[in-house]
Amino acid sequence: MDFGFSEEQNTLRQEVRNFLEGEITRGLWKPGCDAWIQGYDPAFTKRVAQRGWIGLTWPKEYGGQERSFIDRLVVTEEMLRYGAPAACHWFTDRQIGGSILNYGSEEQKREFLPKIMAGELYVGLGMSEPESGSDLASLKTRATEDGDAYVINGQKTWTSGASFIKHIDLFARTDMDAPKHRGISEFLVPMDLPGISRIPMIDITGTEAWNDVFFDNVRVPKRCMIGEKNRGFYQVIEQLAYERGGMERLMGNYALFDAIITFVKETECDGRALSQDAIVRHKLAQLQVEFEVGRLLMYKVATVMDEGRPPTVEAAVSKSYATAFEQRLANTAMEILGPYGVLQAGSKYAPFEGLASHSYLGSKGYSLQAGSREILKNIIATRGLGLPTD
Ligand SMILES: Cc1cc2nc3c(=O)[nH]c(=O)nc-3n(C[C@H](O)[C@H](O)[C@H](O)COP(=O)(O)OP(=O)(O)OC[C@H]3O[C@@H](n4cnc5c(N)ncnc54)[C@H](O)[C@@H]3O)c2cc1C
Repeated sequence: MDFGFSEEQNTLRQEVRNFLEGEITRGLWKPGCDAWIQGYDPAFTKRVAQRGWIGLTWPKEYGGQERSFIDRLVVTEEMLRYGAPAACHWFTDRQIGGSILNYGSEEQKREFLPKIMAGELYVGLGMSEPESGSDLASLKTRATEDGDAYVINGQKTWTSGASFIKHIDLFARTDMDAPKHRGISEFLVPMDLPGISRIPMIDITGTEAWNDVFFDNVRVPKRCMIGEKNRGFYQVIEQLAYERGGMERLMGNYALFDAIITFVKETECDGRALSQDAIVRHKLAQLQVEFEVGRLLMYKVATVMDEGRPPTVEAAVSKSYATAFEQRLANTAMEILGPYGVLQAGSKYAPFEGLASHSYLGSKGYSLQAGSREILKNIIATRGLGLPTD
């Protein structure tokens, strides 16, 4: 068995690197932490689309290239390595496009997939509600049938990028009497419909990347429903496997990993090279071991996707592992930097323009977003190991 990349994959990786390095050299953007989820740059997304790197795995008949999920992972790994501002297309490319492909009508596929691949349609995730996070099936946002439309009332929370997105992938209750898992449907809702409003949420890092989104008697045409009525919960569970299975969990703060290694190589402490400190060396070596293991887990997930099944258990393993890695990375950076580490962007003494404090604070949320670590361990225990549900 050959675990190496094919020549074609190596060429693809080099093309992506050349493209990204060229963009940085031209000063089009600066590498950032969490840029895959917080870096909204429509012009960048357009340029990525022109190279055909959105919807890489989708069928040719809709404009895709039918390439493998390993190929896609090669592209996203490089986007993350360079901290590229890819948020405009990240969610559609990763999971929402796939949902349209698997469950959408022919008309929806022909309408939305080409726009996503052209880098023109950005869609946000409308799952969580104030009282429904881990127990998503308990969501209360209602979609009530009224003639040729559904009327939506309710609230979503933690919606990524709601000031940029053009549509929201909304999960709402369409049957109030059915058991909670069997009364939810999926809708692709334009954000400019009357009755939709948002309030930005400022997170612990001071970033305004999230939003509460409110729906007040919003009339959504019936043709906006994706898939079968009342099957939305099963669709979202499948989508979440794709959401959890990517390299962003491991490499969202790659810039910090890079920076702390360079810092250790170049810094002296009390007249002695920091790189000679045994504890510091071991901590960095330990992180490198964990990073390599994480990378293998991610490629395993992509292999499962290439087999054509949602990587539910594999993605729960890799996400649970990778968020713990990112938290250890941030902790280690703080231990090495000492009090300087807490200085935030804007302070002239903040190392790496505040990267360490951003990652340290941001990393608290990594083990919550897209499913908390406890929920992932429940999935591994029940679906992976076959242990009984409680
Ligand atoms: C930075 C960030 C970005 C996000 N982005 C989005 C987004 O774009 N779109 C979106 O829809 N949502 C988003 N979310 C929401 C995220 O999906 C939820 O926060 C997550 O599902 C947890 O839900 P909750 O916050 O309601 O916590 P709760 O579900 O209330 O859980 C609280 C605690 O209880 C534990 N717990 C709950 N149930 C169980 C159980 N059965 N067994 C063991 N432990 C349990 C959890 O592990 C957690 O530690 C985001 C969250 C964060 C932090």
